[in-house]
Amino acid sequence: MGRQRVLIWYRHDLRIHDHEPMYEALQAKALVIPFYCFDTREFGQTSFGFPKTGNFRAKFLLESVADLRTSLQNLGSDLVIRQGAPEEIIPFLVKELQIDAVYFQGEVTSEELTVEIALETALSSLKVPIHSFWSATLYHPDNLPCDVVQIPELFTKFRKQVETNSSIEPTFITPQQLPSLPDIEVGDLPQLSDLGLELPEFDNRAVLCFQGGETAGKARLKHYFWQKNCLKDYKQTRNGMLGANYSSKFSPWLALGSLSPRYIYEQIQDYEEKIIKNNSTYWLLFELLWRDFFHFLCQKHGNNIFRQSGLQGIDIPWQEDWKRFQVWQLGQTGYPLVDANMRELAATGFMSNRGRQNVASFLTKNLGINWQMGAEWFESFLIDYDVCSNWGNWNYTAGVGNDARGFRYFNIPKQSQDYDPQGEYIKHWLPELKNLSGDKIHAPWKLSTTEQKKFGVILGVDYPRPVVDFFKSVKKNEKIYVRAVSSQIQ
Ligand SMILES: Cc1cc2nc3c(=O)[nH]c(=O)nc-3n(C[C@H](O)[C@H](O)[C@H](O)COP(=O)(O)OP(=O)(O)OC[C@H]3O[C@@H](n4cnc5c(N)ncnc54)[C@H](O)[C@@H]3O)c2cc1C
Repeated sequence: MGRQRVLIWYRHDLRIHDHEPMYEALQAKALVIPFYCFDTREFGQTSFGFPKTGNFRAKFLLESVADLRTSLQNLGSDLVIRQGAPEEIIPFLVKELQIDAVYFQGEVTSEELTVEIALETALSSLKVPIHSFWSATLYHPDNLPCDVVQIPELFTKFRKQVETNSSIEPTFITPQQLPSLPDIEVGDLPQLSDLGLELPEFDNRAVLCFQGGETAGKARLKHYFWQKNCLKDYKQTRNGMLGANYSSKFSPWLALGSLSPRYIYEQIQDYEEKIIKNNSTYWLLFELLWRDFFHFLCQKHGNNIFRQSGLQGIDIPWQEDWKRFQVWQLGQTGYPLVDANMRELAATGFMSNRGRQNVASFLTKNLGINWQMGAEWFESFLIDYDVCSNWGNWNYTAGVGNDARGFRYFNIPKQSQDYDPQGEYIKHWLPELKNLSGDKIHAPWKLSTTEQKKFGVILGVDYPRPVVDFFKSVKKNEKIYVRAVSSQIQ
C-alpha cells in the first residue's frame, strides 16, 4: 500500500501556524494536498439584497489565500484552488487523486454545516472519511467546564467558569517542510472581477491599510505588541476610534484564521514575561473570550441567532423602512457620531467596537429598524466579518440576545462627548463639520441660525437635520420593546 493521501480543506483557517489538520496529517506521514475552494454561494446576495461578500472583504480574502499559497510553496507544496461548491469539487478531487481522507476545520453555523454534511454524504459513497478539527477558538470545547449545550447564557458567568476551570492548549508546531504535490493542475487564484466584484479604492483616512494573510497578520501583532509596545495600554485606549493603535485590529486576521487565538495568547504570555503583566494584557484576553463566547453560543443555539426574534425569541414589530435605513447606511442621519462611523465603514470596510455599538444601537433603539438588515449590511462590508461575532453582537445590541439588562440604548450625543471630546474623529469623516468647535460638534441641530452661518454649516443643506428626535424615538421604541416582552411572558 502507498503513502496515505490526505486532502487538507482550508476554510476559516488560512495559516500554517497552529494548524491541527496539517499537523495530524503530517504525524501520520501522509502526503498532504492543501486545497481552498472559493464557494460561489459566498459571492451571491444576502436576504436583503446586499453583496454577501463585499469588495473590501473579498479583496482581503484573496490576499489571504494568496499568502497561504506562497507559504505552502515555500515549504515545498502548493495550494490547489478551485471555484464552485466544495461538496461537489472535493469528491471529484478525491477520485482524481485517490485521496484517502479529508481533514478540515469544523464550523458551527448553518450554511457551513450544510456544506459539511453534504460533503460527508458525497464522500461516504466513495468510502472516504472526513475528519473535522476544532481550532477557531481560544478554548477547545473539550477543555470547557461543561458541554457546549450547557454553557451559561450570560458572558460574565461563562468567563468566570472558563477562567477558573479551563486551560488553553498550546499551539501546534509549524511544519518546516511539506511533501510536494502529486501531478495536478493547481488552479489560478481568481481576480475580484471573476467573483463579480471590483477593486475598492484605498481611502487614506483608514485606520490601517489592512493586508490579508498570515504574514501581514503576524506583522501586525509584532508591530502592536513588540515594536510600538501598545499592549500595555490597551485597556485605556481600546475605546478609541481614530488611528491604527487604539486597539489591536487583529479581527480581520482572526476572522479568516490567519491568526490563531492561541498564538495570540502565547504572545501575550511572552509579553507579560518580558515587558509587563497588567490589566491591559489581561483585557485583550478578556475580549478574545467574548469571541469564544459567541462562537460557543452559536453552536449551542443553532439558527436561533439568525432569527428576527433572536436568542430570546422576542417578537418585536421591527420596521423595514428603507428610506431611513438608507440614511443610516450613507451616514446621513444628522447624528455626527453615527454618520462618521457609517461613512468610515463604507469607505474602508472597518469600524471600531465603540462605533459598532453606537450605530447598531441607533438603528434599533432610535430608528426601530429590523436589526437583521443592519447585521447583513455589516456582513457585506466588514473585512473582519465573523458570522458568530457579528450576529451575536447584533442580537445583544438589538435587545434580543440573552442580555439581562433589557432595553439598553446608547446615548449617542453623550457617547460622542465622552469618546471624541474634541470631535477629531467626527471631523476626520465629516469634513462639512470641520469648523465646529468641540462643544458644538456633538449636537449640530442646536446651532442657531447665526451660528450656522458663522460656521458654514447650514442645516438641511450642508449637513442633515436629525432624522428623528433622539429621546422621543428612544421612548417610542422602548414602549414597543416592553410590550413585546410582556406579551411574551403572558
Ligand atoms: C454590532 C457589532 C457587530 C460586530 N461584528 C463583528 C464581526 O463581524 N467580526 C468581529 O470580529 N467582531 C465583531 N464585533 C466585535 C468588535 O467590534 C470587533 O471584534 C472589534 O472592533 C475588532 O477590532 P480589534 O481587533 O481592534 O479589537 P480589539 O479591541 O483589539 O479586541 C481584540 C479581539 O477581541 C475580539 N473581540 C473584541 N470585542 C469583541 C466583541 N464584542 N465580540 C466578539 N469578539 C470581540 C476580536 O476578535 C478582536 O479582534 C462586532 C461588534 C458589534 C457591536
